[in-house]
Amino acid sequence: MDSEFQGKQNFIQSVFNHQAIGFDVDHCLIRYKIKALTKLCYKVICQTIIDKHNYSSSILDLTEAEYGFALNYLVIHIDKGIVLRIAENKEIIKCYRGFTELDVETEYGPTRMLSDDFDPISSIKQHPQYIVCATYFENVIPLIFAKLTQYKCEKLNTIQLDQSEYHAIFGQIIEGLKMNYQHFDQHQVFPINQYGRFFRQISENPQLYMFKQNQFRTTLENLKSQGKVLFIVTNSHVEFMNLTMTYSYGEDWMNIFDFIFVKGGKPEFFNNPNKQTFVLDMNQPLLKGQAVNQLMTNQKIYVEGNYTLIEQYLMQRFSSLGQILYIGDHIMNDCYFTQKYTNWDSIAIVEELFEQLKPDSQNRVEAEQNIISYRSYWGNYLESNVDNQTLKNYWFSIACKELKGVVRTLDCLQNKSLWN
Ligand SMILES: [Mg+2]
Repeated sequence: MDSEFQGKQNFIQSVFNHQAIGFDVDHCLIRYKIKALTKLCYKVICQTIIDKHNYSSSILDLTEAEYGFALNYLVIHIDKGIVLRIAENKEIIKCYRGFTELDVETEYGPTRMLSDDFDPISSIKQHPQYIVCATYFENVIPLIFAKLTQYKCEKLNTIQLDQSEYHAIFGQIIEGLKMNYQHFDQHQVFPINQYGRFFRQISENPQLYMFKQNQFRTTLENLKSQGKVLFIVTNSHVEFMNLTMTYSYGEDWMNIFDFIFVKGGKPEFFNNPNKQTFVLDMNQPLLKGQAVNQLMTNQKIYVEGNYTLIEQYLMQRFSSLGQILYIGDHIMNDCYFTQKYTNWDSIAIVEELFEQLKPDSQNRVEAEQNIISYRSYWGNYLESNVDNQTLKNYWFSIACKELKGVVRTLDCLQNKSLWN
């Protein structure tokens, strides 16, 4: 077995024998240069906020160390203007207002716990007070929240703001986010180069933000030649997916996959068997053609959709439904919910697993160069030490307990023996 699988840096509960393997695109099939991407996301969203609201352009200036605030899976407690990290038992590990660290017990009492009505799993993104910022697109939300909070506090010469001010700041960030990432509304899908600043920067200089994936392309081709059905479910729309996949896997990338779902709306894709599915039609304003209730051999790309179509297709093609695997970087929306709502298996990509590699290993040095240097603000990602107790990160603990596997990057899955 590949040495990458030895030790505890990656775990795989079983050797796979899957009939079909599905992939998320961003931060899964596409491996981003996270440091550069975080800086880009920060700059474009802040610029949008500066243009719309009354902020000085000085908020664009961030030190290299301050970018380290943008760790994956932080929680914003909006009412209090606090950004925090939680461990497996929901205990708060560290918390900040602006970039100033606060004493957890002063803010949250001796139990160091978040309120009982916040369940980070069921209420992900839905609680009015707490927001979980998952993935290395959303990691800039707490960073911008801290920067704007600090900016306003300094301007008003105070150490904290009114609750309504924190909600206003949060609202401005979400607006800035949508104006850069969400290039569609109920009526129309906009060409990415005419929408916001983010997509244009990526399309002009893809080499600054993404890795080529030649090695994993070979793995995919091997899987295909073994008769595996390979598919994609991405929440992105078709144009951005095509841009990133073409850069990383080459012009003919689509030939590798049997079918592709864009604007997949995960996690609903995995729990709503009635969610509609449309054929991609580039001539329609929403790119949605005819609604379908089964996959067609002459049609590769679908808009929206749900998991039952994939199961139906496999059942027809192989006369019986085998096991399906889905791989993604969003521990909840790609992995946990998928396993909870379907019979599928799931593996999460967690780049911070480099922490378990030997400090001088080449893979660790390379991974640390790629990822933002979060440890001065947040400590280690995988485990934290609180009062001489070692506590696992909340989401990493879910991934270890619930999922079929956790790996650092897709390349860790290149060993043929894994796939049977
Ligand atoms: Mg992703």
